[in-house]
Amino acid sequence: MSRKNTMIPFNAPHPTGQETRYIAEAIRIGKLSGNGEFTKRCQGFFEARYGFSKCLLTASCTDALEMCAMLAGIAPGDEVIVPSYTFVSTALAFVRQGAKIVFADSRADHPNIDAGTIEALITPRTKAIVPMHYAGAACDMGEIMRIAEKRGLLVIEDAAQALDSLYVGREDEEPRALGGIGHMSAFSFHDTKNITCGEGGMIAINDGRFAARAETVWEKGTNRADFLRGKVSKYGWVDCGSSFLPSEITAAFLLAQLERLDDIQAKRLQIYSAYLEGLSPMAERGAFAMSALPSYATNNAHMFYIVCNSLEERGGLIERLKERGIGSAFHYQSLHKSEFYRGKHDGRELANCDRFSDCLVRLPMFYDLTIEDVGRVCREVGGYYGN
Ligand SMILES: *Cc1c(COP(=O)(O)O)cnc(C)c1O
Repeated sequence: MSRKNTMIPFNAPHPTGQETRYIAEAIRIGKLSGNGEFTKRCQGFFEARYGFSKCLLTASCTDALEMCAMLAGIAPGDEVIVPSYTFVSTALAFVRQGAKIVFADSRADHPNIDAGTIEALITPRTKAIVPMHYAGAACDMGEIMRIAEKRGLLVIEDAAQALDSLYVGREDEEPRALGGIGHMSAFSFHDTKNITCGEGGMIAINDGRFAARAETVWEKGTNRADFLRGKVSKYGWVDCGSSFLPSEITAAFLLAQLERLDDIQAKRLQIYSAYLEGLSPMAERGAFAMSALPSYATNNAHMFYIVCNSLEERGGLIERLKERGIGSAFHYQSLHKSEFYRGKHDGRELANCDRFSDCLVRLPMFYDLTIEDVGRVCREVGGYYGN
C-alpha cells in the first residue's frame, strides 16, 4: 500500500500476530500473576541468547533501574556518575535512594558518556557509574570497567535501548552483549523500543553476589523464591523490595515478540541502511552530522538520528516534516538543567550534552516503515537543506 499522502508516524509498535495466542494460553493456564511459565520462558531466552547469568522481568526499565539502585545499596550521601544526556529514569532510580547525581558530559562525536571525563568526577563517596548505551551503541565499556575496577565502583548499564547489540571491544577484548558487562543492567520493552510489550523491562544480574538478593527485592522483600524451591517451609518479609514483577499477560505478549527478534532486527537494519544511503551524501556535504558508530560498537537499529547545526535549524526541520505529514522527535533535555535537578547540580558546563539536546532529531524508525517511506523522509530532509 502506498503511503504517499498519508502520515508517517514517528513510531508504531509491531505486533507479530502471535501475541493474542500466547495471552489466550496464559489465560487457559490460569495463572496471571507474575513469575509463571511465560515469565520463565522470556528470562530463559535472554539468558541463553546473551549469556546473562540471571534475568528477571520487571514492569518497566525504570523498575529495573530502581532494583539496581537498591541492590547496589545506594544510600543518602552516596554519589553516582550518570550522563546528563539520557532519559530521566537513569538518574531518578538513584535519586530515590538518596544519591547525589554527578552528571557527566557526552563525547563530542557521540551522545554516549565521555569515559575520559569520568575519573575526574570520582570522590570518596562515589559508589557507581551508570553508562547508558545511546541508540544501542556501546559506551566505551573497556575503559569504564577498568576505571570501576581500579576505584572499586559498581557499573550499572542502562541498556534500555541496547537489546541485541554488542561491545565488540578492541583487539585484545572479547565481543560481549550490552547489558552483560557491568555488574547489573536494565532493559526496556516500552512501546518505543525494538521489542515491546507496551510497558515492560528486565534486570540482568551479571555479578553473582547480587543474584539471591535480586529475587527477594523483586518479590516485595520476601524469600518467596526460596519457598518455591522448597528451601524454606514458609515465606516472609526478610528485606526491602517492591512489587517489580509484570503479569503473565505482559510476559506472554513479550515472548511472542522475542520469537521474532531476528526478523525484527533484520528489518530495522534494512530501514537504517536505507536512511544511511539516502542521507549520507547530504551529511558528506556538511549539511548536518550523522549517527557516528564508535569502532568498538555494533548497531542494533534502535533509532536513526541526525544532528543539526542549531536549535533553530532543528526546529525548522521538525516543523517542515510535520507539515509534510512526517513525525519526528527530539530529546533529551539535559538533566543537569532540568527543573528538578538544576539547583542540585554543581554548575559544571556540559557542552556536548547541551549541543545534542539542542540539535539532535530522531527520524521515523519502526518495523512497518517501508523503504519508500524512508525515501520520502530523506527527500523532505533534503528539501529542507536545499537539495
Ligand atoms: C526507554 C528508556 C528508559 C525507561 O524505560 P521504561 O521501560 O519506560 O521505564 C530508561 N532509560 C533509557 C535510556 C530509555 O531509553
